[in-house]
Amino acid sequence: MIYTLEGHDLKHAVEEMLFHLLPTANLTRADTVGEDGDWCRSLLSEQGGEAVGLAVACIDGVTHESERRARVAGLAPLDYKRAVTELVKMTVYDAVVPTLAQPPVWGSLTGVRPAKLARGLIERGMSRGEAAAYLREHFYVSPERTALTIRAAATAMELDKDIGPDDISLYVGIPFCPSRCYYCSFVSSTTAQSGHLIEPYLDTLCREIAETAALVREAGKRVQSVYIGGGTPTTLSEQQLARLLDTLEQNFDFSRLREYTVEAGRPDTITPGKLRALRAAGVGRVSINPQSMDDKVLAAIGRRHAAADVLRAYGEARQAGFREINMDVIAGLAGDTAETFARTVDTLIGLAPENITVHTLAIKRGADLTDKAAAAAQRETVSRMLDGASHALQTAGYGPYYLYRQKFTAGGFENVGWCKPDTECFYNVTMMEELQTILSLGAGGVSKRVDRATGWIERTNNPKYPLEYIRAADRLSGGKRKLLFPRQ
Ligand code: SF4
Repeated sequence: MIYTLEGHDLKHAVEEMLFHLLPTANLTRADTVGEDGDWCRSLLSEQGGEAVGLAVACIDGVTHESERRARVAGLAPLDYKRAVTELVKMTVYDAVVPTLAQPPVWGSLTGVRPAKLARGLIERGMSRGEAAAYLREHFYVSPERTALTIRAAATAMELDKDIGPDDISLYVGIPFCPSRCYYCSFVSSTTAQSGHLIEPYLDTLCREIAETAALVREAGKRVQSVYIGGGTPTTLSEQQLARLLDTLEQNFDFSRLREYTVEAGRPDTITPGKLRALRAAGVGRVSINPQSMDDKVLAAIGRRHAAADVLRAYGEARQAGFREINMDVIAGLAGDTAETFARTVDTLIGLAPENITVHTLAIKRGADLTDKAAAAAQRETVSRMLDGASHALQTAGYGPYYLYRQKFTAGGFENVGWCKPDTECFYNVTMMEELQTILSLGAGGVSKRVDRATGWIERTNNPKYPLEYIRAADRLSGGKRKLLFPRQ
């Protein structure tokens, strides 16, 4: 699709909205639009203290035009930018939506944290009902997604009460997996490619743990939750896992820890010995992620395990004493249908894990689905999968407790964590809702300092890939020192 910007240069705003509405479009900016093909013009001007946004979109030969105005006279530069950005996005939304078979369930919301937006509305004085009405009427969010958002916002507000000014959480990343799933969007290397890096990676990680723990002590912070994710942390051998867990325990004060999670992830990496090591270290929550319980789908996505391995790993985790288990599934995988996906969800509900997380497959820009009919069909299938899962989970006593959206998910849907009563994953909520400072250790780690009084967030990133990370061993704690001691 060709698009033009006329009277403004808000490329990001226009592209974000176009990708939200047309996730498989290949966007190209041009000076003018031609006669053929799909195109969108976005225009902005000012008249008498008002900004005037205009958009004209032509899709499959059908043209729609929209215009909106906003009072901008006297606005401070930041508020002015916010107002015209919204104007530009909303006019593009208004012009494109009539050309779609159905409006998006998230309306014009493009952000990845809808519950954070709702929380902001409630904290600024709206009742939950008023915030819900605002989401529906201002952003055109569907009633179902609005209800989901308000429940997630309420959970976050409840957990927020337990966070003190010096409480922080830790994330530890292990970016290795036994094989690569075809849909994977994480930075993770297979053991075949990078197995030789695991030991030096652990050396660097143990050093980063010791240095970070010293900073945390010096800053007087307390660790409230730990999440070891990846990749697949249980790709590590029993000895390597024990070394990591021991290093964490010896360096940090875990006496106030309320939650300790390890993403065991792939059942083909889980053994009774590793599960015992996790329990012995105080890990209380594990994630065992089938993604699908259909062997054909598992084979198609490059997982080297069958549904039976998931059942075995789940049984072993219960036997090892885990009382909180999460299981992830993904809607929209290759070869999956609404019926086989429903069977997956039913099988997991039958196992009765405390948490079930329903993800939507993220598609990459310009990926295979350039065929609009195929994209629409996939959207329809994923929609049925999610609606069916939502109904089955609620009937079985699960409630939604956190949600987030990824850019470019199939059909513009969302990922939702469901839980049985009082089993919310604290880390997932605080991380997604940006409720507290989180220090991230390991390759690709993004640490965030959250100023709880103002909401201001500062970040520092570790190098993305294992080799870069190992080479940066001497420089890893500098960014975290700046985060923890901003005035030094
Ligand atoms: S297990 Fe997870 S991190 Fe590893 S390749 Fe598969 S999707 Fe990616």
